[in-house]
Formats: sequence, structure tokens, C-alpha cells
Amino acid sequence: MDATGVEIGLSDLDAVRVYGLPMRSRFRGITVRYGVLLGGPAGWGEFCPFEDYDDAASVPWLRAALEACARPWPEPVRESIPVNCTVPAVDAERARAIVSSSGCRTAKVKVAEPGQAPGEDVERVAAVRDALGPGGAVRVDANAAWDVDTAVARIRELDRAAGGLEYAEQPCPTVDDLAAVRRRVDVRIAADESIRRAEDPMRVAVADAADVAVIKATPLGGVHRALRVAEACGLPCVVSSAVESSVGLAAQLALAGALPELPFACGLGTVQLLEGDVVADSLVPVDGHLPVLRRPPQPDPALVTAATPPAEVQRRWLDRLHRVHALLTTR
Ligand SMILES: [Mg+2]
Repeated sequence: MDATGVEIGLSDLDAVRVYGLPMRSRFRGITVRYGVLLGGPAGWGEFCPFEDYDDAASVPWLRAALEACARPWPEPVRESIPVNCTVPAVDAERARAIVSSSGCRTAKVKVAEPGQAPGEDVERVAAVRDALGPGGAVRVDANAAWDVDTAVARIRELDRAAGGLEYAEQPCPTVDDLAAVRRRVDVRIAADESIRRAEDPMRVAVADAADVAVIKATPLGGVHRALRVAEACGLPCVVSSAVESSVGLAAQLALAGALPELPFACGLGTVQLLEGDVVADSLVPVDGHLPVLRRPPQPDPALVTAATPPAEVQRRWLDRLHRVHALLTTR
């Protein structure tokens, strides 16, 4: 490892393949998820920063991808990861159907959707509890939509509708707001959008802003680094995906598998958001669980060929890869 912490560079790789997989529904404004698969001596990594991330913000994502190419993941302490199903801002009947067909014992319910009335959130959450039964866990995600007073009122109301919420994820935008809400409600608060860089979990913990940290291996610079960040901040962690193919998702599962404690289901049942995959044995949850793999899955050459985007898209992603790599190696 050199002084920048980079163990391997692009010139050490055996394979670089750009892929594009259609999304089953629009996500972060995109309809196709693009990324680059990197093949190295230890296995395969996936470089797939979101389209709106600049080169500097994409550096940890490349670090994470190269980590998978260069070295084994940490030793797992569990073999199987419980995952949540996700209930978008749909009506109660549809919410019940999503939960019942998922096989998951934990449901994450989207609330505070623009244009919807608070009563719709209440009905959706009550339907989800009904479908899960008393033994399941219901969490809500407001994606930073509320101010403090609104969050306090809505969380109390949804907690009643759910017969007890497991936690409320990112009710407000700022760390200070999260801390203020947390002081006023009995429901656990989880920080998601507030955690985007390696220093963020510690900031959230120091401010007493959350009971749970939602983390991803990619923006934290890889499985090993994310594990250190998680341990340093001392909060219980939920690992969530960045909507990768099964190659990148395996790294998130490796993180979930290596965390000393994993008290909550993870947000890793996301391969189904994509139309297709680049590996034959796709990481689709079975009975609400995903396996922890010892090494990244091998892309299937025919599936990668089928997912290869037009030449100009490949050029754009390869340019991005090289620009981010230049930033990574000069830091
Ligand atoms: Mg969230």
C-alpha cells in the first residue's frame, strides 16, 4: 500500500467493463444504472458513483471498488443478512401486497411524499403493520422532508399507527434538527442522508443526533474503512446499498457480515430494482435474507456483453474512471 492508501491502480487490473442496467422504476432521476466493473487479482469491484456526484465525491467509490480487486474482505461473523422490504409512497392495499409477497420481517415505509396528505402515511403504515403481524418491524423514512415540529408530530402519530416503530430514518435535513427531534420523541432516530463521508458517523454520534447510523461501504471508501468508521462512531449500524449490481452489492454484504453487532435488518434487497444483473447467481433475497459471500461474485461474460452500453456512454464512464483515479492517486 502506498502513502495514499491505494493498494492497486487501474494499470494493475485485468478487466474494465462498463455496464448499464435499466431500472424497473425511476431512481434519483435515472432510468438506467451505469457503472464500471473492475477485475483484479483478488476479485471484482464495481465503480458506480451516482450521476450527480462530482469527481472528488467519487474518489471513495473508486477506493471501494479497487479494494475488492486488491484484497480479501474482513472475516465475516455471520453468514446471512436479514434485509428489509421497501414500501414506496403507494396506497394501503398495494403496501400490504408488497410486504406480504416480500418474505421480509422488516418493512421500510416511505413517508412525507410531496403532494400526499399525512393521513396517507398513517394508512400505509397501519396496513404494513397489519401485513407483518405483531412480530415484524416497521421503520419509516422521510428522506429529510420535515422540519423539527412536523417531524415530532408525525413520528408520534406514525408510531401509534404502527403499534411501535423500529425507527424513523432522516426525519429532518440537518444533524442539529435530528438531535432536536430525538430529544422530543421516544422513537429511535436513524441518520441516512446525514452520513455521506467518512467523518459523518462520528459527527452524528457526537451530536447525539441518532440512535442508528445508516452506512454504505462505497462512500466510506470500502469494506475495511467502513468497518473502522462504524466501530469508531459506536452507533448500531444498518448497511444500505447504492443500488449496485450483485458485484458491488456483495461488498455491502461483506460489511454487514463483518460488523460486530447487527441489530437491525439491512437495506440490501435492491438488485430487484434493476432489470437484469451482471452475474448469473443474482443476490436476490430468499425468505428475507441474503448470503455473505467470501469474495466478490464473478461477472458472467454473456450478461456483461448484453449489458454493455453504447460507445459514447462507455467513453463517458471510462473518462470519469480515469479522472477519479487521477484524483485518488495524487491525494
Ligand atoms: Mg433513507
